[in-house]
Amino acid sequence: MRESICSGCRARIVWFRTPRGKNMPADADPQQRLILDDDGAAVMAQTWMPHWATCPKADQFKKDWHKESP
Ligand SMILES: [Zn+2]
Repeated sequence: MRESICSGCRARIVWFRTPRGKNMPADADPQQRLILDDDGAAVMAQTWMPHWATCPKADQFKKDWHKESP
């Protein structure tokens, strides 16, 4: 993962690649969550919040995030 700074709000973000090859920014600090595995058992997992869910400038930068490549 490549870490960088959001050009909209200066938050620390990390870049993920989606299955379709797009680059997606997420908040840098992961959260501990319980998720269900295929058998319905709860397991701990690290999750990241997509940055456009928290960024105050998301509308302004969403298009650019799709274009930028790390
Ligand atoms: Zn931001």
